[in-house]
Amino acid sequence: MKLEIELIPESTMTINLRQQMSSYRWRQLSRQIQQQDQYTCQICRRTKGLEIDKLHCHEVWDFDKENGIQRLIGLQSLCFQCHMIKHIGFAEMNGWIEKYQLVEHFCRVNRVTAADYAVHFHEAVQLWIARNRIDWIVELGEYADYENCTRESE
Ligand SMILES: [Zn+2]
Repeated sequence: MKLEIELIPESTMTINLRQQMSSYRWRQLSRQIQQQDQYTCQICRRTKGLEIDKLHCHEVWDFDKENGIQRLIGLQSLCFQCHMIKHIGFAEMNGWIEKYQLVEHFCRVNRVTAADYAVHFHEAVQLWIARNRIDWIVELGEYADYENCTRESE
């Protein structure tokens, strides 16, 4: 499936790159990623200015279960719907969007049925529960230096 639910463990939900940066730097980085991504949602391929108003910058994580390391491996531009599906628990909690609209988007992008969505959602929650048992160490890798690097090169 192109678009998958990706729930961040409870203990690391607030530890991310965005949190480490000033909002100014984050917006700057987000614009840079959008440019690299040619202003296109990297999952459903809709384009900013044509089909959608704006793009979000999504942090892509790798979960190394063996070593308990949650590692930031990339950044990608996503539309609002794709981004909210990635973090569907969070979106629901905040009442940002009606869930049925997200399910419709999920089904359209993945070319699956609502029943397939239900199975996928259940699996994502099971994975989340398993990941919540691990005491994760968060690694931001090369991105951790972003704020300092760009400031020096100015
Ligand atoms: Zn999208």
